Amino acid sequence: MDTFSNLKEECLSCKKCPLWETRTNVVFGVGNENAEVMFIGEGPGKNEDLQGEPFVGAAGKLLDTMLSLIDLDRMKIYIANIVKCRPPQNRDPLPAEQDLCISYLERQIELIDPKIIVCLGRIAAMRLIRADFKITREHGIFFPFEGSREICATLHPAALLRDPNRKVDSFMDLKNLDKKIKEYGI
Ligand code: URA
Ligand code: SF4
Repeated sequence: MDTFSNLKEECLSCKKCPLWETRTNVVFGVGNENAEVMFIGEGPGKNEDLQGEPFVGAAGKLLDTMLSLIDLDRMKIYIANIVKCRPPQNRDPLPAEQDLCISYLERQIELIDPKIIVCLGRIAAMRLIRADFKITREHGIFFPFEGSREICATLHPAALLRDPNRKVDSFMDLKNLDKKIKEYGI
């Protein structure tokens, strides 16, 4: 049987794609293994690679603030990424790297079994929702996912740091998420 600890152990020693060669740490994920809400970014940055935990740099601080606005924190949710090792210079993870890594995320989703998945940014949305997903037009909209779940995307916190005007959109997405969480009685 697949268990969280087996999966984590396997992932921490993974060398399936070339990103293993330049990583300091595999960034498996963090949070509540029974969470009903999962957040998914694209891949570790410099600080995440050094600390082995997702969203611990400047974007992570903003994510924590965003979560606190709707009374969420890292103990209530689970946070993971599409790829578990840092792409050099923070480039987008290549499709081939995503293809080799995605099964870890798929198994995390299956084991955690969340009701709601929130993609942080376009890379996660294009991978999990639709290849031609347009984050500017479709952020905040919920779609069915694997029958029993719902998925949406919101702007990546790093994008909000670059363009603070977009925080208004992000706040609307959070309100919408909060409403959905309450609908489920989570
Ligand atoms: N950006 C991401 O997409 N994921 C992280 O873990 C950190 C920054
Ligand atoms: Fe393995 Fe994923 Fe790291 Fe590539 S990015 S080495 S597939 S854990």
